[in-house]
Amino acid sequence: MTDAKIRLFVDCPLGAGQGVALSEGQANYLFAVMRLPLGAGVLVFNGTDGEWLATVAEGGKRTGRLVCLDPARPQVMPPDLWLLFAPVKKERTQFIVEKAVELGAARLCPVQTRFTNAERLRVDKARAHAIEAAEQCGATFVPPVEEVQPLDRLLSGWPEGRRILWADESLITTRQTLAALTPGPWAVLIGPEGGFSVEERDRLRAHPAVVPVSLGPRILRAETAAIAALTLWQSTLGDWT
Ligand code: SAH
Repeated sequence: MTDAKIRLFVDCPLGAGQGVALSEGQANYLFAVMRLPLGAGVLVFNGTDGEWLATVAEGGKRTGRLVCLDPARPQVMPPDLWLLFAPVKKERTQFIVEKAVELGAARLCPVQTRFTNAERLRVDKARAHAIEAAEQCGATFVPPVEEVQPLDRLLSGWPEGRRILWADESLITTRQTLAALTPGPWAVLIGPEGGFSVEERDRLRAHPAVVPVSLGPRILRAETAAIAALTLWQSTLGDWT
């Protein structure tokens, strides 16, 4: 039982003796694909109650039930960092979602910008990818994925006190800005393949919450830029230190 390796995100309270009903997909995975026997150990987390060691109490091809035994790891919340990103092509957007979860973003906000040029983002799919990434990377928290919002609207209703680290591909120096970053609620903003329009740049530059930052002298793809910016923030102000 102690060699339980499978981690599952579940949508119910967790605690000693607590039963966990499995979804059809989870039951299929545990019993048809992984062929777990009754009594096998599974690690479960729900985003608030930490990770628990549970055991298989009932298992069929479409249904199943686990029972929580012991706490395995405490709940760890990521730092208060959101990722605002313009959706790109399907696989590349999935990649951004997966990496953002691994790198410890607390919330994922897709934004529609002037040059966003992507098929409609499937938020349900993005949420499923976020869950999969959390299961795989050992996180006890799954960042929510919001519905797509136009950049304009997002900036107009922007919450006071949260700063925006804007990855601005037209800048050439970053050192000064990074040294001056102070802790608090933050968001990282990454543009689409086409970059930001002149109006968007003006708007961003004039916004009191926005801190522009360069990610070096080369133009990165949006997904690389997302990873680079999250990494910079995490290593300066986040939970990597
Ligand atoms: N087509 C644009 C590049 C867009 S790259 C152009 O040629 O200028 C996609 C996004 O990644 C950008 O909007 C920006 O947010 C980020 N990005 C890429 N390279 C960057 C860099 N060197 N510095 C800061 N941000 C960068």
